[in-house]
Amino acid sequence: MGSKVVIFWFRRDLRLEDNAGLHYALKTGGPVLPLFVYDRNILDGLDNKADRRVEFIQAALVHLQQRLVQAGSSLEVRDGRPVEVFEQLLFELEIAEVWTNGDYEPYARERDEAVKKLLAEKGIPFHSLKDQVVFEKNEVVKDDGDPYTIYTPYSRRWLANLDDRHLAPFPVACYIKNFVQRRPVDVPSLEALGFARTGGPFPRNVMGAGVLGGYTNIRDQPAVIGTSRMGVHLRFGTVSIRDLARRARAESATYLRELIWRDFFQMILWHFPAVGKGRAFKPVYDLIRWRNNEQEFGKWCEGKTGYPLVDAGMRELNATGFMHNRARMVAASFLTKHLLIDWRWGEAYFAEKLLDFDLAANNGNWQWAAGCGCDAAPYFRVFNPVLQAQRFDPEGLYVRMWVPELGRGAYPKPIVEHEMARRRALEVYGAAVKGGRG
Ligand code: FAD
Repeated sequence: MGSKVVIFWFRRDLRLEDNAGLHYALKTGGPVLPLFVYDRNILDGLDNKADRRVEFIQAALVHLQQRLVQAGSSLEVRDGRPVEVFEQLLFELEIAEVWTNGDYEPYARERDEAVKKLLAEKGIPFHSLKDQVVFEKNEVVKDDGDPYTIYTPYSRRWLANLDDRHLAPFPVACYIKNFVQRRPVDVPSLEALGFARTGGPFPRNVMGAGVLGGYTNIRDQPAVIGTSRMGVHLRFGTVSIRDLARRARAESATYLRELIWRDFFQMILWHFPAVGKGRAFKPVYDLIRWRNNEQEFGKWCEGKTGYPLVDAGMRELNATGFMHNRARMVAASFLTKHLLIDWRWGEAYFAEKLLDFDLAANNGNWQWAAGCGCDAAPYFRVFNPVLQAQRFDPEGLYVRMWVPELGRGAYPKPIVEHEMARRRALEVYGAAVKGGRG
């Protein structure tokens, strides 16, 4: 690498197709060095050394590397703290500019600011593009410029603002010769990173045929694979949000609405970063006197609450890293309302287990379920887990799949009686809200 290089830094966009930042980096004429950094600030915080997200990233990098090698190039993979990695790169290389795609999480924003500052000291520009959402930051706001905090009016404005331009792909293949030409360098193995392989399968990054056509009718049935299973691919950018949104726009308004929820929570995290650091979106709910019974929390985690839909969801999560959205909603409501356990405990448990874990979506949905988040309705909604199971799993297929001992002596009795728990939740929530006014 003799001449000055343009660095493209992959993060949540592990693909070569339709990648905004990569498109612009290559368009400079290059030579473009494709970089990935295993971020020790994140990896060292993971207690589970068989973390499937790390395994997913490693597999995605191997795939990227195959494509780059075909193009005569090679991925540069570093293992360290991003600022230190860039200090080292500045020492080793002549860098013309750095391109990347934006990330809206509080840690990522601080990290990018620090890298940008370091580069600026050397007069090197750092360009960050919008890639992982359709609309970001202030692109969908109220007439007075304030951010929306309720989904429905946000989604209306989102749809009104949308035109073909927002979903146009960013081609990469036509600039492929602008990657640095060099001999392949090995992508580190999981073992070299201090992680272990589990070998479990990952969902494919191709949506099943017929998913969009049937989505409206069957997406709420946990027994059926009626949703797209694109969560993990959207999380790590192994699919393009524009591609999915284009297809949704043509085939399923319901699916498009789910993608808008995703943009919505990213926008909330951007405008209200404190939610990602443990604060309730509506501060008065930080006054709730949670019961936080550790034994009950343990039973919820294990899927032994005696409520089959909650237990099936938790066992699906523990076994596969996925939980159907309906089960997620019921399990989250049960933890916070029936057991009066702090939503932050549940949020952290999901963060550890979900393959598609995403701070904005996880936090936003947990706060929504707990009643302290972006929801037009007050805290009164308490899902009845028995009625939810009757409605969405009427033949009991889902619960029997995950709770095979159901109906036999081995299955626990309900940990708490529904009607008593509902009334207790309303009292405790009511007291917090009243106290907050006081
Ligand atoms: P599909 O139904 O096929 O939806 C397509 C995509 O739309 C999803 O992959 C996702 O990116 C987006 N989406 C759908 N529903 C939502 C939603 N309610 N909020 C935000 N985006 C949505 N989703 C995550 O991606 N990461 C999380 O960490 C996460 N945590 C959750 C925690 C709780 C308590 C709840 C109730 C929901 C959570 N969700 C989360 C939202 C939703 O459950 C998942 O996105 C969905 O189940 C993923 O499966 P899918 O890809 O088959 O979804």
